[in-house]
Amino acid sequence: MLKPDSITKFINIIGTDNVLTEKEDLLTYAYDGTPMLRQLPEAILIPHTTKEISQIMRFCHQELIPVVPRGSGTGLSGGSIPVEGCIVLLLNQLDKIIEIDSENMTAWVETGVITSSIHEAVEKIGLFYPPDPGSMKISTIGGNVAENSGGLRGLKYGVTRNYVLGMEVVLPNGDIIQTGNKCAKDVAGFSIKDVFIGSEGTLGIVTKVLLKLIPLPESKKTILAYFKDIDSAAKTVSAIIAAHIIPTTLEFLDHVTIECVENYTHIGLPLDMAAVLLIEVDGAATVVEDESRQIMDICKNHQAAEFKMAKDNEEALKFASARRNAFPALARYKPTTILEDATVPRSAIAPMLAEIHRIAEKYHLQIGTFGHAGDGNLHPTCLTDERDTDEIQRAEKAFNEIFEKAVELGGTITGEHGVGLAKKGFLPKQLGDPGIAFMQSMKNVLDPHQILNPGKVFSLHPRCEGLLPKTREQIPVTPENEQL
Ligand SMILES: Cc1cc2nc3c(=O)[nH]c(=O)nc-3n(C[C@H](O)[C@H](O)[C@H](O)COP(=O)(O)OP(=O)(O)OC[C@H]3O[C@@H](n4cnc5c(N)ncnc54)[C@H](O)[C@@H]3O)c2cc1C
Repeated sequence: MLKPDSITKFINIIGTDNVLTEKEDLLTYAYDGTPMLRQLPEAILIPHTTKEISQIMRFCHQELIPVVPRGSGTGLSGGSIPVEGCIVLLLNQLDKIIEIDSENMTAWVETGVITSSIHEAVEKIGLFYPPDPGSMKISTIGGNVAENSGGLRGLKYGVTRNYVLGMEVVLPNGDIIQTGNKCAKDVAGFSIKDVFIGSEGTLGIVTKVLLKLIPLPESKKTILAYFKDIDSAAKTVSAIIAAHIIPTTLEFLDHVTIECVENYTHIGLPLDMAAVLLIEVDGAATVVEDESRQIMDICKNHQAAEFKMAKDNEEALKFASARRNAFPALARYKPTTILEDATVPRSAIAPMLAEIHRIAEKYHLQIGTFGHAGDGNLHPTCLTDERDTDEIQRAEKAFNEIFEKAVELGGTITGEHGVGLAKKGFLPKQLGDPGIAFMQSMKNVLDPHQILNPGKVFSLHPRCEGLLPKTREQIPVTPENEQL
């Protein structure tokens, strides 16, 4: 429980309007995008400057108050779920695009800026910021950096980490550090920025980011290909890469997802297909023309039942909407949607998909799978209802098996959503004890009092135990927590 003195201190730093303690406000921030995880915070603090964040952190460090950073709360692994006794530091008011430097092709932005606003701002002057998470219209760039988010264009262009040149960070003790610069090359000392990218808000609060931009591709073509069996779709993916074509986007939807998307969007997807591939190529017009023609030939030679190229931008957007709407379309079917991101090497996509299918049948679950087939990042999505404890337990077992299989196939328990709370239990299986101990020792150096997002990713301090919201399996559905 926060002391009244602490609230007064926070009000002195950021003003009354920016300190929320009413139950209705706290309820809004008890969740993120992860199902079945929730916890009321003690207060919501809304800073507007790095200096305010530094003062807040210095005070919390002294008083041992847990702090949970939050961007837009779209995270899918519970990273911004409050922990008991914490304040939530809402970072979405750090919302300025500070500078777009066309000569050096860089942009300095505050970390509360919405990802798609960066796309829009730089594309106006012929530049391109490629990472495009499915949540880009709501997620913040700070959340993207903290999760090292990927997106539909990740196959060709990489993930957030590949576009971060530098940053400003407030450390758990309130110190402010600047790291990186606009140089294309810089090997002076450790790459400190890389410590914070993907650290899920456990090591520091990123307040500004320097992003690398590239020239906006001149041209783009979009293809949709339908398959009667999953194996042919998987072989088509491999054949495209084997032909040394790296599409911008190479996305996959299985039968369950196709049905849900069609019922939601009515864009004309055929309901008798086992799989759909969305393929986009971009670059110089002549190269795009040539590559798209080769891809059409590969689809034909790999038993695609039907394939078509979008005739204009409007149709391309319609094709892409099949994939962009996969999550909302699946989420309409049952009250609880558990979306995971088991990822395997590209060559293991077909066995991984077969295994997901087998596991879904074994546990009598409805699991639709879609995802970034080009980079092996699959999203098995279980449609369930958290009030059905039996089904939730079966879902937990199913995902255990899915993650085990992904690791066995040389993959990972998460390709882009992070570990947070939801996948914390699986991380030791993937990293082993020495891997976890290494991360813990880094946490100890930067956050010796364990105040920043404690208990996420891995637990360290006994203080973290009992502070945390329970895992999915442990949450009993009572009238009280149903209200939450
Ligand atoms: C519909 C939907 C589609 C999605 N599609 C994708 C996708 O394609 N690819 C993908 O990678 N993810 C995807 N996600 C997951 C999610 O959107 C990303 O993880 C995103 O980067 C989170 O951004 P956010 O601003 O919502 O961060 P939050 O959810 O608020 O926070 C995420 C984590 O970052 C920390 N954090 C936030 N801001 C900061 C900061 N400034 N400094 C330090 N730590 C911070 C938080 O403590 C938390 O641990 C999707 C989610 C949804 C709901």
